[in-house]
Amino acid sequence: MLTRLVTHLMNREKQYLDEAAKIAMKSSMRHKHGCVARYGKSVVASGYNHERNAGLNEVWSLHAEAEVLKGLRRVYKDDKQKIQKCKVYVVRISNDTDIYKMSKPCEICKRRLEEMGIREIYYSDIRP
Ligand SMILES: [Zn+2]
Repeated sequence: MLTRLVTHLMNREKQYLDEAAKIAMKSSMRHKHGCVARYGKSVVASGYNHERNAGLNEVWSLHAEAEVLKGLRRVYKDDKQKIQKCKVYVVRISNDTDIYKMSKPCEICKRRLEEMGIREIYYSDIRP
């Protein structure tokens, strides 16, 4: 599994990060994450992190990657061959701007994506 900083990305792939950043803006959380999965040239799944009330005054944060996993499952069911060709992009933006921040996927999301068949994940660091 490749997990890389976006600084390794070629310019023509930057559009997918911008797309993830746009989606991150929808998040109402303090740390806004957006995530997209692409197959070929199209974005096939996307998501942003949000709060989920777990009852008993507990609030969980549902990670952007989890939404993307759900989307991939919906689109491809168990078609691992297609899923293996998808690339995943994760971006965190700072509040009210589109400046990128560190968005390294947590171990749980990373493992879930890997189990799903995803081989490449790109995540943002701080844009110079
Ligand atoms: Zn996570």
